[in-house]
Amino acid sequence: VTASRAALPRRAAPAPSTDPLQRRLAGVSGKLAGKLRDLLGLETVEDLLRYYPRSHIAAEPTPIKGLDVGQVVTFVGEITEARHERNKTRPGSRTVATVVDPTGRLTLTWFSAKDWSRQVRAGRYLIFGRVTRFGSRLEMTSPQIELLKAGDDPAAAVRRLIPVYRTKEKLPSWEIKRAVELVVDDAEKLPELLPAGVRAEHGLLPIGAAVRGYHLPRDWAERDAARRRLAFDEALLLQVELARRRRSAAAQPAQPRPRRPDGLLAAFDAQLPFPLTAGQLAVGEELFAELARDRPMHRLLQGEVGSGKTVVALRAMLAAVDAGGQAALLAPTDVLAHQHSRTIAALLGPLGRAGQLDAADQATAVALLTGSLGAAARRSALQAALDGTAGIVIGTHALLEEGVRFADLGLVVVDEQHRFGVEQRDALRSKGDRPPHLLVMTATPIPRTVAMTVFGDLETTTLTEIPGGRAPVTTSVVPRRDKPHWLDRAWQRVREEVAAGHQVFVVCPRIGGGDGAEDPADAPPDDPDLEPDDQLPGSTGAGVLETLPLLRDGPLTGLRLAALHGRLPAETKDDVMTGFAAGRIDVLVATTVVEVGVDVPRATCMIILDADRFGVSQLHQLRGRVGRGGDPALCLLVTDAPADSPARARLDAVAGTTDGFELARLDLEQRREGDVLGTRQSGPQGRLQLLELLRDEQLILAARRVAGRLVADDPELTRHPELAAALAEALAERDAEFLEKA
Ligand code: ADP
Ligand code: MG
Repeated sequence: VTASRAALPRRAAPAPSTDPLQRRLAGVSGKLAGKLRDLLGLETVEDLLRYYPRSHIAAEPTPIKGLDVGQVVTFVGEITEARHERNKTRPGSRTVATVVDPTGRLTLTWFSAKDWSRQVRAGRYLIFGRVTRFGSRLEMTSPQIELLKAGDDPAAAVRRLIPVYRTKEKLPSWEIKRAVELVVDDAEKLPELLPAGVRAEHGLLPIGAAVRGYHLPRDWAERDAARRRLAFDEALLLQVELARRRRSAAAQPAQPRPRRPDGLLAAFDAQLPFPLTAGQLAVGEELFAELARDRPMHRLLQGEVGSGKTVVALRAMLAAVDAGGQAALLAPTDVLAHQHSRTIAALLGPLGRAGQLDAADQATAVALLTGSLGAAARRSALQAALDGTAGIVIGTHALLEEGVRFADLGLVVVDEQHRFGVEQRDALRSKGDRPPHLLVMTATPIPRTVAMTVFGDLETTTLTEIPGGRAPVTTSVVPRRDKPHWLDRAWQRVREEVAAGHQVFVVCPRIGGGDGAEDPADAPPDDPDLEPDDQLPGSTGAGVLETLPLLRDGPLTGLRLAALHGRLPAETKDDVMTGFAAGRIDVLVATTVVEVGVDVPRATCMIILDADRFGVSQLHQLRGRVGRGGDPALCLLVTDAPADSPARARLDAVAGTTDGFELARLDLEQRREGDVLGTRQSGPQGRLQLLELLRDEQLILAARRVAGRLVADDPELTRHPELAAALAEALAERDAEFLEKA
């Protein structure tokens, strides 16, 4: 990234739109410019023009008599008087105006120490806002108002679209609109990123028309055309950057790691206890072919929970070891790193015990490196990585630290990608003399546009098949309020499962404990034992620490229960997981630490308490932890959410399908795009203001094609200086936030 950014030319001369708002608005309202700067961070004309409305409202003329509480309306009325007065029931003061139309009268109120009354002259206004009730009277609080000029046709005025800006209390949306109207002619001077040919090919407005048309559209068609053009720019910038990343990654030389027919991999395949699925074999071949090339592999492997990604990754790692290199496996949590280390040691058997008495001939060693290791264990793991005795090194973020060096790192595997950023992938890749091959695995199915956007620097492969013999997980919603006896039945079911030799997860949204440490901010900083995303911030609902004794002394007496959560010391966590895997624990009461990768074949039942606190994809991940051993499995989503609530609809959707892709789409629809990309839109710099990953699929595809062509013809964008400048700005603004954290 750094290299590619340095190569981008900056915009030569400042464009006229870099004019400070302070100067441009001075004649009208110096205060307004100050508020735009202080409250929204908008300093220049361009900042303001790039601050797009959040939405638009079609003004429908409504007579005052027809207004209802809660309605957002526009109407034309006569303001007859305005005054400033003290509030009656709370401190402070307000400006109050009375508005009339032929059908009735209404009070407008602005709570503010400032006296607006002299600015609100008597006259005919276009008024826009939400109708509220004060006592028996209808009124409007902080409406937008606009004085109509003598010649204005009120009917036409009311039919216009009104832009609605994201804003703060002290700066009403209509004031932003007023400022925009004053500078909107400058839109013509904004730099045009798109070559005319591209605009023509995709039917896109010129930049000036688009910016004007999005702020102040005459009709919906103009608004939509404007949005399409501006969203295209956002998609294009992203795709150009991703195309450049792919290009520069492909330009780096890598050490080829060709497969050997007679090595560890062959010995491993010969001793596998199950046949590989066709999908596992096919993906394996794809990976071996890429490992054998002198370009670094850059691949995202998507596969449903339980599709058997670990074996696929292990085979690729063994191929790398056979070719004289080492492989690193990066896991998002301590629990998962330990589990991988156990699973892989077990799968390898004597093939993974180099240096021990019972090692096989060609054996390699597996080292585990996490932040919670003791000093001696850590030193020996570091040594094994450095001198190459460990062919496979498994770890958490601790692997990314400076002091970790490898003899010859050939392959990096990142498991459960969604918790690692591009930055961290790069940190690991830089640990060898030459960039190692990279395989990223995720069980969260990713809609195509997201894959193209967030993981656009990776090629994608999907593992669709679930290894044979696995029974589907039956999921049901348990509405605790309406059907309390269902929950009793659920605990009874838990006892039956345990009696049949099975195991059960009870998942809670919080750790609990009521010691005030719920707030993540209270957690000790950089505590290596603290699992990321262990608890949902701000969540209420069941806590592990409260639930465990309730169950032990209540419906689950006599069963062997244990707690698992991120605040436990690493050894305790490991003991608990080992005990659960070995069947010494019947019921594990846990937070989402069990969400990813935990693989205990005898677990057949999961009860998720306050399931409405979890996201759709998270629930899907969680239930993937049961039914991994071939026995039919059950997942119960316990909730207090009312029957007709959106939360309940989400749970019903999860219960209704096991199709991860469908659920991922649903999840995405319900979240803000910014969240998906790991960043929230903030101020004028939020370059992804308009692009919506699901709705704009076609646009993103088109932008990707255009970006590919542009970058292939002109990698440094020398012939597209405006595009290069915009990209450099976008990267400078949010490289830490945006692409990196994605
Ligand atoms: P995930 O893709 O969710 O990471 P895992 O790699 O943990 O899935 O595999 C889930 C379980 O399926 C493991 O217990 C693994 O040993 C088993 N498994 C993997 N491949 C096969 C196969 N081809 N046949 C039978 N079981 C398999
Ligand atoms: Mg896994």
